Amino acid sequence: MKVAVIGAGATGLVSAYLLAKAGHDVTILEASTIPGGLLSTFDAGDGARLEYYYHHFFTHDAEINWLLKELGLADQVSFLPTTMGMLRNGEIHDFNGVSDLLKFSAIPMVDRLRFAASSAMLVYAKGYAEAEDVSSLHWFNKWAGKAATESIWRPMLEIKFGESASRVPLAWMAGRLRQRARSRDGSQEKLGYLRGSLQILVDRLVSEIKSLGVKIQLGVPTKRFLFDEDGAVVGVETTAGAFKADRVLATVPTPILAEWLKSDAPQYAKSLDRIKYIAATCTVLSLDKKLSPVYWLNVADPDYDFGGVIEQTNLVPSSNYGGQHLVYLSRYHEWNHPMASMSDETLIERQSTQLERLFKTEVKKHTKKSWVFRAKYAAPKVEIGFHRDIPDFKSPIPNLYVAAMPHVYPDERSVNNSIRVASQVTSEMGVDTSYVPSHMSLAAKYGRAA
Ligand SMILES: Cc1cc2nc3c(=O)[nH]c(=O)nc-3n(C[C@H](O)[C@H](O)[C@H](O)COP(=O)(O)OP(=O)(O)OC[C@H]3O[C@@H](n4cnc5c(N)ncnc54)[C@H](O)[C@@H]3O)c2cc1C
Repeated sequence: MKVAVIGAGATGLVSAYLLAKAGHDVTILEASTIPGGLLSTFDAGDGARLEYYYHHFFTHDAEINWLLKELGLADQVSFLPTTMGMLRNGEIHDFNGVSDLLKFSAIPMVDRLRFAASSAMLVYAKGYAEAEDVSSLHWFNKWAGKAATESIWRPMLEIKFGESASRVPLAWMAGRLRQRARSRDGSQEKLGYLRGSLQILVDRLVSEIKSLGVKIQLGVPTKRFLFDEDGAVVGVETTAGAFKADRVLATVPTPILAEWLKSDAPQYAKSLDRIKYIAATCTVLSLDKKLSPVYWLNVADPDYDFGGVIEQTNLVPSSNYGGQHLVYLSRYHEWNHPMASMSDETLIERQSTQLERLFKTEVKKHTKKSWVFRAKYAAPKVEIGFHRDIPDFKSPIPNLYVAAMPHVYPDERSVNNSIRVASQVTSEMGVDTSYVPSHMSLAAKYGRAA
């Protein structure tokens, strides 16, 4: 079978790997001049690669651990202890476990206890992963109480989903909490990081699939599909010309797919277009000193142009980057938000001033280099009813298959879950993927998809 895979992100690369292993003739058509999609990296100095967007994975992520082993990279993974903080009322609170929670003075003690008990319910009780039509904030209000909801949960959800925060389904929230809570060794959370960055994984996947005969065409954006007279897809038209195929697997964000189909399959395009995405901007600063001892600081405060300060070198030693201290300033936003169009210089100036206020230190003086990365399609916006909008892997158009970030729902989108989706979609296409660990995701294990 001749297959065109559109997109060389995690989903496209792993799908191509599984299809080629099963003996199919695969070509990847990628718009960018580099493979990797959201896993792309840059040279942070002296050849040290760093992801555009912070990336870690969890100890229990079965699929990525399987893939790393399969590709001979398992010994390059480090599972590292991590720390979390939370800014509330201008003060940074440690937020790593029960003892920190008991000291979290931003809310009264009774609310701290309700917060802990309700979080435990979501993590350990069966059934919440099926709570599709319950709003997380509504549920938290009832079980965690108003103080914890307004001081912790609403700001946390607003960091990620902005105005849609009140419509995030409990099913997603339960999956997210389970993901974090289960990546613990006793009371210590540990996160996985590939030494040398995810570029190692992308490079190994590319060389592996090439040796299996996969052709990769880079810098070749797809423009639309080609159809036969019966309405079946028979290939794609790219900027480099037509490419014929027996099956086409689209792994691009679903709004792009909707755009391609709006005149040939308007009904289907309309249903795809119901899924909206949130954008993200990540500024990376290289400093000659650390800002704090914390890896991940939640900044749920509208006075700041970032929702998270993620000190990469508090997870991975700065010696891996020639001694520099690397910090991500991350912010999710709508694509029409001023963040998306603001010049990099203005953004860095504003954010550095805010960091100086937050950490009471001369950030500008200590910044040696900076970069800004923006992703229009950073994550699907999960809202009540989202599960009904997820398209089937096998589209209603003959020969066209679809696999993208919405398919990981109710789990959080991640590299691990993209590998799972690649396995699921290629299985729909007739490939035996029984050797890929499956149904081990948290949502699958504890509810819905079991
Ligand atoms: C800020 C941020 C932080 C994240 N943190 C983590 C983390 O800590 N851990 C984790 O596991 N995951 C994390 N992720 C998520 C992870 O990166 C994604 O889940 C995963 O990379 C999605 O892969 P994908 O292939 O589905 O999509 P993408 O990577 O978006 O791939 C889609 C591909 O399609 C291509 N394309 C688009 N248009 C066309 C066209 N017209 N023609 C051809 N090709 C086209 C794109 O260039 C891209 O290469 C993060 C993502 C972001 C944005």
